[in-house]
Amino acid sequence: MPYLDHAAATPVRAEVAALVAEHLALFANPSGVHAAARAARKALDDAREEIGALTGTRAQGVVFTSGGTEADNWAVLGVLAARASDRANLVVRSAVEHKAVAEACTEAASRTGATVVVVGVDHEGLVDVEEVVAATPADAALVTVMAANNELGTIQPIAELARRLSHHRPGVVLHTDAVQAGPWLDLAEVTAGAHLVSLSSHKLGGLKGTGVLLLRGTVPLAPFLVGGGQELGHRAGTQDALGAVAMATALRLAVAEREVAVATTACRRDRLEAGLVARAGAIPTVLAAPRLPGHCHVRFPQAMADEVLFGLDRAGVAASAGSSCSSGAIEQSEVLAAVGMDEADARGAVRFTLGRTTTDDEVERAIEAVATVVQRLYGGA
Ligand code: PLP
Repeated sequence: MPYLDHAAATPVRAEVAALVAEHLALFANPSGVHAAARAARKALDDAREEIGALTGTRAQGVVFTSGGTEADNWAVLGVLAARASDRANLVVRSAVEHKAVAEACTEAASRTGATVVVVGVDHEGLVDVEEVVAATPADAALVTVMAANNELGTIQPIAELARRLSHHRPGVVLHTDAVQAGPWLDLAEVTAGAHLVSLSSHKLGGLKGTGVLLLRGTVPLAPFLVGGGQELGHRAGTQDALGAVAMATALRLAVAEREVAVATTACRRDRLEAGLVARAGAIPTVLAAPRLPGHCHVRFPQAMADEVLFGLDRAGVAASAGSSCSSGAIEQSEVLAAVGMDEADARGAVRFTLGRTTTDDEVERAIEAVATVVQRLYGGA
């Protein structure tokens, strides 16, 4: 059945599944002093080395976390905690950040009295680099702008932002949430110049519960979890060699297949979007801005996303609302408000996201199912 919710979670790669079975022997605690521990430690270090090489980061700067959320929370709260002593207490974020960043900024404001400056986006979710620079005082602690948006797929000019900030606001740390960009973009290139980069394994076809925060250069960053001093003192807790190996493998495969996967997926996405427009009266949200190849964000006029999604689920099609929170409830999307979509239009917004396993047949069946559901609910396009 058509599974078009890859931005939420994509299937574990067969190669990763095979490797997990093979590497279950890596159960030992990598901090131990015996052969089994050394094997786990070697696997962990090799994975760190590989992720570093694939992302333009020194191996010592690859710190494993429990996922994208932890990496995002840590980047925001860790930089603000580290800069508290020199009173740099201001963070600039875009208006379309994932909740893992946005809520961490709010948390920083309530914990430490940090000032949070929110920079708006255009009608397709794109930030203006000059606006971000202008909103950033020279003594700001952190700028955080995501590499690609989870709802719309819009790709931000992070490398350009890094260049401008390093020139005009040296000393300000730049963090980028590259969780959605990970499966599709050249991370070394698109995040070049960012000091901190968040990634998540399960978006790549690895396992849930693993992510990384990439640390580039000397970044003022307080540890998020304290205890045993693992991960070079950056993040305490027994390390998960298996999860690390799975993530390195998933990223290596994504990089190797990237060119072909991007071209074929964008082509299928365009076919899906054209079909939804022609057969179900869909209105695409992003037309001109650069966006990820798997994202198709549309709204159905006069529709309610939850009714459409319910109908699609009954027809065996998996998609999601513009914003679905972890509890599964559909909330008003801050991203859609930020792009200027009014509430009534936003209520009819649905996100279809394709992945590397999506087939032409799934796309055709999804178009057919959406057309039928919209016709039944609202009397057609
Ligand atoms: N950031 C973005 C842009 C995301 O899309 C997600 C997950 O959907 C996260 C962060 C959170 O990542 P994780 O699920 O690994 O905690």
